[in-house]
Amino acid sequence: MTDRASAGSPHLKVDVMFEGIRYTDALGQAAQHAFPNFYPYRFQPGEHDPTGKGKATIPYLLTTPDGTLIRIKGAGDSPWFIDGDRESGYVLRHDRDADRATAIDFEPLPAWMQASTADGFPMAQAGVSLHGDMAVINVAPGCEYFLEKHDGRSMRCTFCSYGAPDQRTAHLGQKVGQVGIPDITAERMRETLERALEETLIRHIYLVGGSLTDWALEGERFVQLARELAPANPRRVPVTCGSGALPDDTLVQLNEERLVDNVCFNLEVWSEALFEQVCPGKNRYVGYARWIRALEKSVALWGRGHVYSAMVAGAELEPEIGMDWEAAADLAIRGAEDLCSRGVIPIYSLYWPVGGRDHPEYFSRLRSFFEKLNDAYFDIRRRHGLSISEGFMCHRCAYMQLECDVDRVVAGGQAS
Ligand code: SF4
Repeated sequence: MTDRASAGSPHLKVDVMFEGIRYTDALGQAAQHAFPNFYPYRFQPGEHDPTGKGKATIPYLLTTPDGTLIRIKGAGDSPWFIDGDRESGYVLRHDRDADRATAIDFEPLPAWMQASTADGFPMAQAGVSLHGDMAVINVAPGCEYFLEKHDGRSMRCTFCSYGAPDQRTAHLGQKVGQVGIPDITAERMRETLERALEETLIRHIYLVGGSLTDWALEGERFVQLARELAPANPRRVPVTCGSGALPDDTLVQLNEERLVDNVCFNLEVWSEALFEQVCPGKNRYVGYARWIRALEKSVALWGRGHVYSAMVAGAELEPEIGMDWEAAADLAIRGAEDLCSRGVIPIYSLYWPVGGRDHPEYFSRLRSFFEKLNDAYFDIRRRHGLSISEGFMCHRCAYMQLECDVDRVVAGGQAS
C-alpha cells in the first residue's frame, strides 16, 4: 500500500480482507461464541477438513487491539490463520513470521440474538443487526426492482444478491405493493433495538431497506420508519436514512422533524453510463440527475459532513463492465472529486465478486484499484475540508471500508 495508508491497521486490514483466513480449529471454535459469518467456510479440494462436512461456520468480524474491524473471508490457501482460544485469547498469525502474533477478538454473538420478543418472535429475525457499533435496521428488505423487467432485463442492481423479496421479507410482514410497515413489525423492531442498546455500546443507527419503484412512496416508508424508531432511541444515538434518493418534500420533512441526523443515498458508481449499466432500477425510477440533486438538496438541509453516498468499489472490474483497474480507479477518483465539491462524501465499500472470479489475478487488480482509490481519496477529502462524522460511521463499524481507518492513522490516533 502506498504512503500514509501503508501504516498500521489499514495495511493489516487490506491484507486480511484480500488474502482471507484459512481454517484452523481455533477459528472453528470461535464460531461458537462469535457473530456468525453469512458465508460458511468452504474447504478447498485437498484441504484438511476436520469437520468432514466440506463446510463450517466461522466468525463474521474480527477486531484488532486498536478497535479496527475486519470482515473475515475464508480462504484455504491464505497465509493467515487464527490460533489460541477464548480463555487465553485469540491471535492472528502469518506463515511468514508465525512467531509474531497479533491479539484479536471476534465480534461477539449478542445475547439478544438468542432471545425472543414479548410475543415470542425471535429477536434475530426482527430486522435489527449489528456491524460493530452500528445497529442496522432493515424491516422491509424486499426490493421492488427485483420484480421489474424491461426489455427482458431485470431492474435490480447487478451486484445485489440481498434484495430479493423472499422468505426473509415474509416473516417481517412485508408484502408487494404495501408501503407501510406493519404495527407488529415496528413493535418487535423497537423491542429488539431497545435490548440491543442496553447490551452493546451502539454509536450509530442506520435505516435501510429495499427500494420502491415510486420514490415518493419510498420516502413515506422511511418517514414512518424513522418515527417508529424514535421511542426506542431515547439517548438519541445518531440516525442515518439509508434509503434511495428521495424527493425534496420528504427530505424537508425528515429534516424539519429531526427524524434523522445524516442521509446516505447510494449512487454506487460514478458516471451516468455506469449508473445505467450497474443500477438500471435506480436509473429508471429515479434517474442519475435527480439522484445527485437529492444529494445536493440534502447538503443544503443537513450541512456538509452529513450527506453520504456508498459506492460499490470494484463493480467496475466485473467482466460485464470490463474496465481495467487503472481506468476504473481514475474514474472513481474523478467521481470522488465531483461529489466532494458538492459537499457529498462517498464511502467506498469493497465489492467482493461472488463466484467464478475468485482467483488471484482478479483480486490483485481489485486490490490495486482499491488502494489507489483510497490513497487519492484521502487527499480529496482533506482538500475539500470534509471529514466523516462520528455520528455516521467510524473505524469500529467500517468493516469493508478504509476511510475511517486511514483518517485515524493520519490523525495519529490509534486508541479505540
Ligand atoms: S436498490 Fe439495488 S442494491 Fe438496493 S436492494 Fe434494490 S437491487 Fe439491491
